[in-house]
Amino acid sequence: MAFDIDMIKKVYANFGSRVEAARKVVGRPLTLSEKILYAHLWDGDPKKAFKRGSDYVDFAPDRVAMQDATAQMALLQFMQAGRPKVAVPSTVHCDHLITAKEGAAIDLPHAKTESAEVFDFLSSVSNKYGIGFWKPGAGIIHQVVLENYAFPGGMMIGTDSHTVNAGGLGMVAIGVGGADACDVMAGLPWELKFPKLIGVKLTGKLNGWTAAKDVILKVAGILTVKGGTGAIVEYFGDGATSMSCTGKGTICNMGAEIGATTSTFGYDESMERYLRATNRNEVADEANKIAAYLTGDPEVYADPENYFDQVIEIDLDTLEPYLNGPFTPDLATPVSQMKTEAEKNGWPLKVEWGLIGSCTNSSYEDLSRAASIANQAIAKGLTTKAEFGINPGSEQVRYTADRDGYLKIFEDLNATIFTNACGPCIGMWDRTGAEKAEKNTIVHSFNRNFAKRADGNPNTFAFVASPEMVAAIAISGNLGFNPLTDTLTNDKGEQVKLDPPTGYELPTKGFAVEDAGFQAPAADGSQVQVLVSPTSHRLQLLDPFAPWEGTDLKGLKLLIKAKGKCTTDHISMAGPWLKFRGHLDNISNNMLIGAVNYFNDKTDTVKNQLTGEYGPVPATQRDYKAAGLGSIVVGDENYGEGSSREHAAMEPRHLGVRAVLVKSFARIHETNLKKQGMLALTFADKDDYDKILEGDTVDILGLTEFAPDQPLTLVLHHEDGTTEQFAVNHSYNAQQIEWFKAGGALNIIRAEAAA
Ligand code: SF4
Repeated sequence: MAFDIDMIKKVYANFGSRVEAARKVVGRPLTLSEKILYAHLWDGDPKKAFKRGSDYVDFAPDRVAMQDATAQMALLQFMQAGRPKVAVPSTVHCDHLITAKEGAAIDLPHAKTESAEVFDFLSSVSNKYGIGFWKPGAGIIHQVVLENYAFPGGMMIGTDSHTVNAGGLGMVAIGVGGADACDVMAGLPWELKFPKLIGVKLTGKLNGWTAAKDVILKVAGILTVKGGTGAIVEYFGDGATSMSCTGKGTICNMGAEIGATTSTFGYDESMERYLRATNRNEVADEANKIAAYLTGDPEVYADPENYFDQVIEIDLDTLEPYLNGPFTPDLATPVSQMKTEAEKNGWPLKVEWGLIGSCTNSSYEDLSRAASIANQAIAKGLTTKAEFGINPGSEQVRYTADRDGYLKIFEDLNATIFTNACGPCIGMWDRTGAEKAEKNTIVHSFNRNFAKRADGNPNTFAFVASPEMVAAIAISGNLGFNPLTDTLTNDKGEQVKLDPPTGYELPTKGFAVEDAGFQAPAADGSQVQVLVSPTSHRLQLLDPFAPWEGTDLKGLKLLIKAKGKCTTDHISMAGPWLKFRGHLDNISNNMLIGAVNYFNDKTDTVKNQLTGEYGPVPATQRDYKAAGLGSIVVGDENYGEGSSREHAAMEPRHLGVRAVLVKSFARIHETNLKKQGMLALTFADKDDYDKILEGDTVDILGLTEFAPDQPLTLVLHHEDGTTEQFAVNHSYNAQQIEWFKAGGALNIIRAEAAA
């Protein structure tokens, strides 16, 4: 379980000199993000300044973190890489495969049985390859990482888009696909386009009902789900240093919802307090020695407009609490205006559930502040109108919160204490009555609220808020309730008002835990057998993808022209499909079933060009594959936003889709497509999207001269015999073109290992 202090000392030993070298080549003071990036160059000391937003750079991350759903495919891929052991400290966290239904006491043993073969596989493969394994019930990956592994100035990648949470402890932590994790574990450099930088200056101090969550809800409203794309968001100012470390984690966590590469904060006393409280005095001592390097240069923060590509300023003294939603996390409404907005838009006002948890908001501080509201409600004679569900972030948080009486307070309010896991946040919520698909409202402290995300019901209107606001609104049962001004009627018929929340940044008696749920790997794993049954429906060893045939791609069938939002949830749905994350063929039966067909506005109903009939997307694609035909998927803006899951790229690849052509991509998904040997293309002229007709057959020309910055040509063969052609762009560099030619990046790694 122990953090790797030797690795951290090694990183810090070079940190100062690399920052100095970077200052020299860049020729000006540096932001924190730049310091961390330049200190982690694969080639060592910085020799040149990189151009933000365009230069691809090789980095050497310090750690890898994986959650159980994505770790399966990441590790199945790693097994193909031919390496005996991971090259950097890595961990696996079992948190996504645990259904929330009755409460932890019943749900956890049930999950351990239901997903035994997956957990056994992950445990054995971790044991063999030197990977730390966090058992089911140990906690949510990002909370566990923050408590145990994150360190100021570090660089981490993780197979989950909320890996960015570790920015709360001053890291550059980035969500990637399993293929990227596989590269880094195999000892290869990790490539990233040098990000742009957005500075967020926080002034003032959080007060009253306003929480750290409201900062990011506000930022999401300003930047929207695309506004952070390709950028690191760096927070600074006296408002930043006045905030707790886990509060910073909350803000960084939801940077994923604005599409940001990651977010981070400079090292400060709140981080030192958190490191010491979580038994990492050595890390705090080491960080203190190079503290000046672990934050942005003072000149940068004094004149941010000169150093960042964009600057936002938020005054915490006047910041209002927010509720974001429904169906998108960037629709930000101040709590004071929610009643009006909900009535205007027809959002159901009656709140059915209040859910507190997820990696975003499940710290000790979060639970203590929400509990202070629950406690008041009980003391003031109120009963909750909505049901309550709580997912503590880790066993350490759960044990400590239980010891300190917080869980009892929630239970007194009839809350269900779910497992220390993702649960409803990832659709693993067996919610009674969800199958009726009734229109209803829930509030939660999670990060995402796409349709069907929590309970599979497309008519659940989910609103995101701070844990304390979730508690207040759930108690009132009314989405339009504003605890700052409104009263509630208690059991004596009196009007009572809830006081602002109070809580503890850290437990006054310290954290405690009996069994944190960690399994250390074998010192020598060479004799450890990895457990995969050949008859398993949940795990399947991988076969390499075929290399490019060396010619232009001709005769591709248009599989689907997706309309509007098409997230990785739409491409590879979560919820019940999570159980097939380790079985590529089986999970491919969910490919694009959530995408809306432009031509009929329906999901999972596309025209099969071989039969003329309409049918499900995966079955149609399997028909094309059986007939030896490739196909193309067309999409809208920010295609593949949402998560890092490479299944959204591997499934189309496995089923024979050759190219994805969109108006714009979400970064991680675009990279994932490239890693799997797919063509990820964008319209040179976005209006050409309108030229794509149902029944089109497509040629992609120019591949024999495939080169960076050279557009390709797309030819449309319409059903009426006419053709149109136009240019399409790509962002492949020379290395990525080699991935395409080899049929995927893994084919190159394996060949190198064998050489
Ligand atoms: Fe788990 Fe939700 Fe966090 Fe993802 S966002 S790691 S599903 S808690």
